[in-house]
Amino acid sequence: MVVWTVANQKGGVGKTTTTVALAGLLAERGQRVLCIDTDPHASLTYYFGFDSEELPTSAFDVFLLGKEISRDKVKQSIVPSEVKNLDVLPSTMALATLDRKLGSQGGMGLILKRTLATLEQDYDYVLIDVPPVLGVLMVNALACCHRVLIPVQTEFLALKGLERMMRTLKLIQKSRGQDYRYTIIPTLYDKRTRASLDTYKKLVERYGRSVWNGMIPIDTKFRDASNQQLPPSLYAPKARGVLAYQSLLTHLQQLAEQDLS
Ligand code: ADP
Ligand code: MG
Repeated sequence: MVVWTVANQKGGVGKTTTTVALAGLLAERGQRVLCIDTDPHASLTYYFGFDSEELPTSAFDVFLLGKEISRDKVKQSIVPSEVKNLDVLPSTMALATLDRKLGSQGGMGLILKRTLATLEQDYDYVLIDVPPVLGVLMVNALACCHRVLIPVQTEFLALKGLERMMRTLKLIQKSRGQDYRYTIIPTLYDKRTRASLDTYKKLVERYGRSVWNGMIPIDTKFRDASNQQLPPSLYAPKARGVLAYQSLLTHLQQLAEQDLS
């Protein structure tokens, strides 16, 4: 099982889109995929057509299990999506209260890791969409993944947000004694603007080989796909944006072989 966490402390950079796009491509290829939505805004949950406030269970219930995690209980909170091979552990607004509720309890940072340990035989890939907030949800998502995917909008202001995210990674890395592997994904690339190219160059200058050697273009098909509640590759298989996510996936799968060995 390969686990990828999609994180950036900035909103609107393409985290949810990246999670759904990669998950859709993997599911189409017959991989068993679980998407975990840990963002209380529940964009990913809504994307797949679920009303987070009407579902009887969610990731919140899994977090409340604390030390009582079992495969059966976890499975009760997972829902199949309309897409074959793709399941969702949905979010709910209540997740926003987790820090206040449980943040100070010991072992709270490893709940997702223990949850995924019970699902080892059920999924080939797990993708976790993370809120842009440093809290117990992000700590959990970082603690259980093989690689952190960091979408960065190709815009000057986005570089500041990335610096913050890198500081967060270092901080958590230090406190956990765990080394993170990460890939920076340039997103919302607009080839008509100078700023997009300049930002891309700056990214490579600063972060070198951690930057994926490609970019996700601005593509209006992404918005249309989300309106249709379909992963982009099912909605518009030949769209430029989908082709870009395909080559990103190929790159990430090569890295995953190293990550797992
Ligand atoms: P985040 O999860 O980081 O907040 P989203 O993935 O929700 O970001 O993206 C923010 C908005 O930008 C959404 O409306 C989404 O449809 C749109 N979007 C994301 N990526 C692209 C892209 N490559 N081209 C065009 N629109 C995009
Ligand atoms: Mg999002």
